[in-house]
Amino acid sequence: GVFCSHGPEGAGAIRDVAQFVVHDINNLLAVIGSGLRLLDCQSDAAYRKAIVSKMQHAITQTALLSRQLLDAARPRAESIGGFVAGSRLAALAGTLDQALRPDITVRTDIAPDLWDFDADPEELYFALLNLYRNAADAMPNGGTITVAARNVEPSAGAIREFVEIVVADDGEGMTEEVLSQAFIPYFTTKGAGSGTGLGLAHVRRFAEGRGGAIGIESERGAGTLVRLFLPRVHAAGLPSSIVGTEIAYTPSANG
Ligand code: ADP
Repeated sequence: GVFCSHGPEGAGAIRDVAQFVVHDINNLLAVIGSGLRLLDCQSDAAYRKAIVSKMQHAITQTALLSRQLLDAARPRAESIGGFVAGSRLAALAGTLDQALRPDITVRTDIAPDLWDFDADPEELYFALLNLYRNAADAMPNGGTITVAARNVEPSAGAIREFVEIVVADDGEGMTEEVLSQAFIPYFTTKGAGSGTGLGLAHVRRFAEGRGGAIGIESERGAGTLVRLFLPRVHAAGLPSSIVGTEIAYTPSANG
């Protein structure tokens, strides 16, 4: 696989983001509106089910978009504060399961002694939802998403203590060309109304805004693995003993 952990800067001016988001939300509302009209005049059960599933997809996408707009508008300093108890991650991963298609299985492998880490729980929820959605999109015929989490000691490649969360799929994977652009805001290989190209940019902003990091490994035909690193906090919500200010975790430089 190829490792890519950097891309151009975040979402940019709020006005630019708003323009795209409003455009996308209008498209999604049109999908929901026409879905409702179709439901009104269709009696075939399978057809109705397909329409409902399309509408649910559009609603989730709309929630993600409004979330991203909110994030772009929020001053960075305001997102400081809050943490996720390590013991709650498994429950969170389980809740997300319900947002997925029935042909996709989520397997969790979360260390039982997982440290508490720096993240707003709601932001983490949306970050994971973005990663799940990408994984699901890469598995049109179904498959397995694995969510794993472990503690990373400073000796294991970082000079601070981190919690590592991995979201892996066995889907289509990415070409090197797609991988190198995956973090660029509005870069998408998905059709209009289905991809926004903001998902990974948003997840990256979330991780880095917390002093963490993100990395992706992907291989065409084999699957994709996203690693999120979030700094450990101690129960009071204070940052852990900081040995250094830089993250020593530096992925190989070919990305
Ligand atoms: P979007 O999902 O709206 O397209 P993202 O920023 O989340 O926006 O992703 C950008 C692109 O990266 C996607 O269009 C897709 O080509 C690729 N990508 C992201 N995650 C995966 C994945 N798990 N498997 C394969 N390709 C992916």
